[in-house]
Amino acid sequence: MNTYIDFRSDTVTRPSPAMLDTMMQARVGDDVFGEDPSVNELESLAASMFGMEAALFCPSGTMTNQIAIKCHTQPGDEVICDADAHIYQYEGGGIAFNSGCSVKLLSGDRGRINAEQVRQAIQPDDVHRARTSLVCVENTSNRGGGSCYEWEALEKIKQVCAEHHLAFHIDGARLFNAMVAKGQSPQQYGALFDSISICLSKSLGCPVGSILLGSKSFIKQARRIRKVLGGGMRQAGFLAAAGIYALTNNIDRLQKDHEHARLIEAALENKPFVASILPIETNIIIFETKGITAKELVEKLKQHQILGYAIAPYRVRLVLHLDITEAMVARTIEVLNAL
Ligand SMILES: *Cc1c(COP(=O)(O)O)cnc(C)c1O
Repeated sequence: MNTYIDFRSDTVTRPSPAMLDTMMQARVGDDVFGEDPSVNELESLAASMFGMEAALFCPSGTMTNQIAIKCHTQPGDEVICDADAHIYQYEGGGIAFNSGCSVKLLSGDRGRINAEQVRQAIQPDDVHRARTSLVCVENTSNRGGGSCYEWEALEKIKQVCAEHHLAFHIDGARLFNAMVAKGQSPQQYGALFDSISICLSKSLGCPVGSILLGSKSFIKQARRIRKVLGGGMRQAGFLAAAGIYALTNNIDRLQKDHEHARLIEAALENKPFVASILPIETNIIIFETKGITAKELVEKLKQHQILGYAIAPYRVRLVLHLDITEAMVARTIEVLNAL
């Protein structure tokens, strides 16, 4: 697949030679015994970046989210999130499977819910009702086309959570994209949320891995649940070393992906086969096609060695990431202009 320009997802990145080199040098031990120095270093690096007490390295973002939901709830509770949220749409019904909770879906603005919606969705204290215990937001929103929250909007939701004693979790699979786009800091997020999930395997370029952040007691419970789910890894330091490399080297460059997304957006504007484009905020481009289905357009692009993803009958998604070079973006624009 190396000859393709692959915009299907930011998960398709391969570790760079420098990242691989760091992985090969990693000192390792048995992480289930707490003895892997590289995993320990990654967890304390992430925790200190966010100003949180503790962190837990996990195989996937699905696992970090699902562990957080399990820790914050009891069976029969209800979780509030946007209808487009990854935790609801793409985690295999995990909220029901793992935590036995029901979900109150809100219809947000491109994946972003607001404080008033949350307030109205909280169940009254009544034996007939499920007990609302957790609010989850996603930043950036995947199905929202990489949209991100204004800081004040998150603060207002936190206020509602505090008033009603609800836990507040953020699915930050692409949180660094949001922070770069909005000029926000990890410390801000660490101070606002009870738990944070970040993915290392997306735009940050790691082959595997996500991190869950929270208080010491939360992470202690999370570690138990990770084991139950089969996520206790042994010499995981080889993977953690990639995470340390990514957190040290691959954050600032996300700006480039956002610039690339805007260049491609400009090329898509006013094309006869494009009906509309979701506002570009970060590294995700979602557009509606016209006169051609998403599948047909993706097939056409493939003939030019360009891979996209048909996410709905007339909806195409293109995602920028660190394996998409400036030259590849230029080539893509050339192809789009000639279609
Ligand atoms: C990718 C992603 C995740 C986690 O996915 P995994 O493939 O399990 O790592 C979680 N939330 C969002 C919004 C995502 O895009």
